Amino acid sequence: MEQFCQDKTYNIAIVGAGPAGVYCALNLALKFKEANFDKYKISIFDKSQALRTILPTGGGRCNITNAIFDIKEFASNYPRGEKFLYSLFSSHFNYDSIEFFNKIGIKTYIQSDGRIFPKSNSAKDVKDKMLSALKKYKNIKLINKEIFNKNELENFDRIVLCAGSRNTTKLIQSFKQPMEEFKRALCALKVENFNFPKGISIKALDGDFVTTSDGISGPLAFKISSLNVDLPFPYKIEINLFNAEELEKLIQLNTKKTIGILISKLIPKSFAQVHVSEFNKKASEISKERLKQLSKLELNILGNSSLGEIVHKGGVCLDSVDKNCKSKICDNLWFCGEILNIDGFCGGFNLQNCWSSAYVVANDVVRSIINK
Ligand SMILES: Cc1cc2nc3c(=O)[nH]c(=O)nc-3n(C[C@H](O)[C@H](O)[C@H](O)COP(=O)(O)OP(=O)(O)OC[C@H]3O[C@@H](n4cnc5c(N)ncnc54)[C@H](O)[C@@H]3O)c2cc1C
Repeated sequence: MEQFCQDKTYNIAIVGAGPAGVYCALNLALKFKEANFDKYKISIFDKSQALRTILPTGGGRCNITNAIFDIKEFASNYPRGEKFLYSLFSSHFNYDSIEFFNKIGIKTYIQSDGRIFPKSNSAKDVKDKMLSALKKYKNIKLINKEIFNKNELENFDRIVLCAGSRNTTKLIQSFKQPMEEFKRALCALKVENFNFPKGISIKALDGDFVTTSDGISGPLAFKISSLNVDLPFPYKIEINLFNAEELEKLIQLNTKKTIGILISKLIPKSFAQVHVSEFNKKASEISKERLKQLSKLELNILGNSSLGEIVHKGGVCLDSVDKNCKSKICDNLWFCGEILNIDGFCGGFNLQNCWSSAYVVANDVVRSIINK
């Protein structure tokens, strides 16, 4: 077993300067400072520009997290990793991340749908503030270098892998860490014979979606793709657009109006014109059964669209790490962020996985050094 040595400088490698890697480095430095310990060096390796991957988040506004303050309810938004996250969230949850961001000058606000954004509405501002916080620590070095395998990290005392889910399979496998194949999990969907005009936003009972040139996109489409990630294409889905009884009530109050006019009170007219073949017919002449049919949208999903690709399912198997995301296979190795087999729906859930797992890893790495 390794002995704690007063004079030794501990070398920590972080592979990936994405949201998880930078948050982990900042928390490592904070924890060491709290413990009055400065015999450490953190090298953050990135093959590209640090925090480049945060720039497109939230459409450039960076949906930092979500305002669900109950851990179980929050975790129910992850098709993969739900139970594993209970423990991570009990150590570091959304309000802890908000406090952390406040401290480095990123004020946040809650949007009406519960999503949390920086007040600046700028992912670039989040990137800049996180990187300036990093520059304050002389023990942290950003290195522009791609790491291909375990051998390149031999001289490090502690290793944190947080290189995300794009082209990282070989790197993970070089550590012999069990993993699940990466698959696109939050995508827009291609739909068979889709003839709605593109760009219509629909607030359906099941969630919000938007029509594209070949199908649907937006939070509901992403959720459908995530939940059905292992289903072979094509598969059928049914979206509840509105409550059929609401339409019936509208008809009872407006017996002379056409179905088209009334249904356009519940869904956009340009969408209804395609969805309702009997658009100009008197509403009172439409059967109850047909009204029920009109309240739903049946789609045959042909595949993932090339538009929009947000997160991947797959990565390091959760049963191959302990509750601090430390490898059970390889000594002195931790994982955080999307490289773990954890993925959530749209709404700030994927970044919260980065913040919580990175914090827990930072805490455990520090503990592994100074509590010897
Ligand atoms: C368009 C888009 C919008 C999104 N919007 C949101 C949102 O608003 N809210 C939300 O919660 N989530 C959002 N996400 C998801 C979120 O961005 C990711 O979950 C998050 O970036 C994962 O962070 P990470 O640090 O784990 O990995 P990454 O962000 O992928 O960062 C990994 C880093 O590692 C580097 N790297 C990779 N391999 C190597 C290697 N071998 N050697 C050295 N460096 C390497 C990469 O260059 C990269 O900088 C969005 C994703 C996309 C694509």
